[in-house]
Amino acid sequence: MKRVDYIIVGFGLAGMALAHELEKRGKSFVIYDHNPDRSSRIIGGMYNPIILKRFTPAWKAHELLQIALPFYREIERKFNKKYIYEGKIRRILHSIEEQNNWMVASDRMLMSNYMVPSILKETVCGIKAPYGFGVLKNVGRVDGEQMLQDYKKYLMTQEQFIQEEFSYKAIQIDTDTVQYKEFKAGHIVFSEGSYLPNNPYFNDLPMRAAKGELLLIDVPGLKVDYIIKSGVFMVPFGKDRYVVGATYNWTDKSFDATVSAKEEIVQKLNKFLDLPYEVIGSKVGVRPTIKDRRPLLGRHPDFHNLVILNGLGTRGVILAPGLAKILVDHIEEGKNIPLEMNTTRFVK
Ligand SMILES: Cc1cc2nc3c(=O)[nH]c(=O)nc-3n(C[C@H](O)[C@H](O)[C@H](O)COP(=O)(O)OP(=O)(O)OC[C@H]3O[C@@H](n4cnc5c(N)ncnc54)[C@H](O)[C@@H]3O)c2cc1C
Repeated sequence: MKRVDYIIVGFGLAGMALAHELEKRGKSFVIYDHNPDRSSRIIGGMYNPIILKRFTPAWKAHELLQIALPFYREIERKFNKKYIYEGKIRRILHSIEEQNNWMVASDRMLMSNYMVPSILKETVCGIKAPYGFGVLKNVGRVDGEQMLQDYKKYLMTQEQFIQEEFSYKAIQIDTDTVQYKEFKAGHIVFSEGSYLPNNPYFNDLPMRAAKGELLLIDVPGLKVDYIIKSGVFMVPFGKDRYVVGATYNWTDKSFDATVSAKEEIVQKLNKFLDLPYEVIGSKVGVRPTIKDRRPLLGRHPDFHNLVILNGLGTRGVILAPGLAKILVDHIEEGKNIPLEMNTTRFVK
């Protein structure tokens, strides 16, 4: 038997944040992931604490971003690579009313950290924006794909990453420890994202996963180096390449690209993009969203060494590091998990 403090199941943003948090505290762990290519890697990677439909703050996003950015900077230093791309987001405004709403919201506390309090009237070749743009600052993108790949490579060299499916049937639970194959651990933390329904210990929690699709397009001649948001986001990825999306589908949970999603994105894109473009590919993911749109942190009610970190929803980049810290603080130091994110809120 090999003794470790933790077994982590799932290596998306949640699993990686847990791994880094545990490593900083000198804890030993091993990670299982059967298909890391399908995890957080595919995301747009944006961090933006403002909901751009209504110009309201996203839940705890401002607070957790203060933890997330230094955390990703630590990982940048660890691998001597760049993952954070600070930038701007321009929200296309569609009416005088939206211009007014932007100005009112940008004057509010917290929002003023991100919303520039003026309307930008600028002609951008290839972009239709007759009512101008609202500009967001202190936002950007994290290259989650590269970061996860580098972290996985590092963990593999340390023999801490096992690329295989975790089998729930093989768990043996004792009073203070859990055994899984050749490992004896203090805790197993499950961070399986949208695969949660396969986990017999936590599948009574109300996940309402949302499939999302993105298109990769090439737009020769478009000189835009900031993110544009209208009906969809358009994120620049260098040269003429942009990622556009995303869709929301609450019934289909497959990872297959669909014609209907492509049509939806193209239709929304054509409303503001006024240059010829070529669709060169697509990306598909499933967001681990919970019924009440809050994360899931906590212990199994009967088996206290089985723990969960899930429910990152649509803002995994901002949430993952702060939530990993709250969970490890709880396990290691007995600190409380706030009720609004604690799995106990669903205990009847
Ligand atoms: C189209 C799209 C665009 C998005 N854009 C953004 C964005 O711009 N910014 C943002 O912050 N968020 C974005 N998100 C949301 C973000 O992707 C999620 O919040 C995040 O990926 C959730 O991370 P996670 O680690 O919880 O789950 P995942 O990334 O899904 O990771 C779960 C991992 O668990 C593994 N796993 C599951 N079961 C098992 C098992 N039995 N054995 C072994 N391994 C297992 C899986 O292989 C997977 O690698 C987007 C999502 C989608 C779909």
